[in-house]
Amino acid sequence: MLMEVKEQAAELLSSSTIAATKVEYYQIPLAEVLSDARHGDHTHFEVLVFRVRCQDGLEGVGYTYTGGRGGRAIYSLLQDDIQPLLEGRDASDIFAIWEGIQSHLHYVGRGGLLSFALSAVDIALWDLRCKRLGLPLWKVAGGAGNTTKCYAGGIDLNFSESRLLDNISNYLARGFNAVKIKVGKENYKEDVARVEAVRKLIGDDVTFMVDANYSMTVEQAVRFGRAIDHCDITWFEEPTIPDDYLGYGRIADAINIPLAMGENLHTVHEFTYAIAQSKLGFLQPDASNIGGITGWLKVAELAYAHNLPVCSHGMHELHVSLMASQPHAGYLEVHSFPIDEYTTRPTVLENGRAVASNEPGTGVTFDETLLRPHLVKHS
Ligand SMILES: [Mg+2]
Repeated sequence: MLMEVKEQAAELLSSSTIAATKVEYYQIPLAEVLSDARHGDHTHFEVLVFRVRCQDGLEGVGYTYTGGRGGRAIYSLLQDDIQPLLEGRDASDIFAIWEGIQSHLHYVGRGGLLSFALSAVDIALWDLRCKRLGLPLWKVAGGAGNTTKCYAGGIDLNFSESRLLDNISNYLARGFNAVKIKVGKENYKEDVARVEAVRKLIGDDVTFMVDANYSMTVEQAVRFGRAIDHCDITWFEEPTIPDDYLGYGRIADAINIPLAMGENLHTVHEFTYAIAQSKLGFLQPDASNIGGITGWLKVAELAYAHNLPVCSHGMHELHVSLMASQPHAGYLEVHSFPIDEYTTRPTVLENGRAVASNEPGTGVTFDETLLRPHLVKHS
């Protein structure tokens, strides 16, 4: 009997050995040009898909994305430095692989592009873990529930005021009851007028956030935060550079709107500084650039321990499951890069809440016929 169990265990171990990996690089055009105060114009976004196939043929799919720049460098990290590390490893040793990649590339890593590459690998390994367990990600990651509060995140700084309002109306028509707009115009009074116009349009009951993509100085952020004090803003996102942790604290002390950041914090340790010094109201880790699901969950634990809601940035088709899994989830961002429209399950909203997939795995299955036309290269 014991022998049998041992044999079964050995079989299981070899079946989850990584037999092959594949990297794919896509450039996907946007339906219209989208702008914010830091990136400028977005015409397309990049998606890097990382596939891990085990000895028994089971495949895990991970990915990361960018706003249209830097994707080829992430591709190179995956192809030249990370793929050779993985063959023969046990795909279920997620923490060992996560720490191993960080250590192997620490001198050029410790955040930045490496965190994006690591994320794509890590998500593929979690996809495999969930598939082996036969469970959806929302259960494996925590199982608090299968739905989450969410908001539509506009990238709309270039929109005229009437186009902006049309866009917000579309969000409400689609069933959202929370929205976010970009701010950071040359003249802050224009931002104030846009915020006031949106609040007037949506009424008192819709949740409303603003995002400056770190375009302001501390003083400008304080001035702006005070000027929109009467608009019932749930959070003011990235008012100033993410590196100025203490500056965030000064802004938080001077205004009545909670601050949020996270999309530009690319290591778990950066979040510890932000929590300690920046007086944030919401944390926004992004599994595509914080080291995947492993990194996102580490930040979620930090948030829980500090009595802060955890939120997300981008890739909503994946984050919906992570957010739903957590008891202290804030709001899922339903991002303006529609990666979900290239999967077999675009975003599902019920009563204003986003619903996680019940399929075993991350719940993100790319629709090859939709994605393939945008493939630039693979290895
Ligand atoms: Mg943002």
